Amino acid sequence: MKVGFIGLGIMGKPMARNLLKAGYQLVVYNRTQSKMDELVREGAEAAQNPRSLGEKSDVVITMLPDSPDVKEVIEGVDGVFEGAEKGSLLIDMSTISPIVSRELSQKARDRGLRMLDAPVSGGEPGAEQGTLSIMVGGSVQDYEKAYPLFEVLGKTITHVGEAGAGQVVKACNQIVVASIIGGVSEALVLGAKAGVSPDLIIDTLSGGLAGNKIMEVRRNNFLEHDFKPGFKLELHHKDLGIALAAGRKYGVSLPLTSISDQLQGALIAKGKGEKDHTAMLTLIEEMAQYEITVGERKGQDQSLSGI
Ligand code: NAP
Repeated sequence: MKVGFIGLGIMGKPMARNLLKAGYQLVVYNRTQSKMDELVREGAEAAQNPRSLGEKSDVVITMLPDSPDVKEVIEGVDGVFEGAEKGSLLIDMSTISPIVSRELSQKARDRGLRMLDAPVSGGEPGAEQGTLSIMVGGSVQDYEKAYPLFEVLGKTITHVGEAGAGQVVKACNQIVVASIIGGVSEALVLGAKAGVSPDLIIDTLSGGLAGNKIMEVRRNNFLEHDFKPGFKLELHHKDLGIALAAGRKYGVSLPLTSISDQLQGALIAKGKGEKDHTAMLTLIEEMAQYEITVGERKGQDQSLSGI
């Protein structure tokens, strides 16, 4: 099986590398061509555009930022649709709108192609270690064909329904992640300003009901103000837009998600869109006029007497 991979960013490059390491013949394409060099040195073939990648591949995987990017690469000029042979399987692993995902899947079927939506969770470490959680929408037959590839890329692989269902579950995932990051940020700033070292807060919460994976995986981001992405805030904001649009379509109020969306929007307006999404901490700090510091118990007495 010859696999084409389009979009070699934070997630795409390590995912493509894992397929190469697993022995798949790999063709790659990225808009900024230099990002293909490393994988070409490791044995991949570079394509000139998505059309020529489609011509050379049995399966095409896309890992792009947003719905317009996926539409452009798949159905645009020199896109995958122009090159892919009938029967080829397209797997979009980007996080995009479920509505766009369903439309593209229908257009693929109309051309004799097959398509799955298979967004992921698990971030850069999950992409590097091949331990992503993959939520898949599409036909069972196509899911089974793609399964060996998913096994290379991820650990928790779930077929969640027909076309677009993977994107619906991913929107649910992003709602939860945003709420947790907001909650952890508030807890750390409150706890630290009230005099407790933030590392102790994380350690203590981790042993109880409030323990969660984000606090574990992103511990240093919070404690050391290390906001190198990771997952860019502007991409998470895009995902909350998808969730809110779905809420509107299905008549579901998402009040917590609306707050996360507005706070993320404020951070983007401050020029922090390219930072990791844990940079939410800095906004909560700014509103409290207090920056958390490990080990220091600044203002402890004063803060505690105020409670
Ligand atoms: P990223 O680092 O911004 O990478 C996106 C890649 O797509 C870049 O290499 C970019 O090329 C390429 N690209 C963008 N538009 C293109 C176009 N029109 N034609 C061809 N190539 C194009 O993003 P990422 O963090 O890897 O995220 C990719 C997707 O995975 C997003 O949908 C995101 O929401 C989702 N996701 C991310 C994470 C995470 O932790 N990062 C976790 C789960 C899911 P250039 O080099 O030219 O910009």
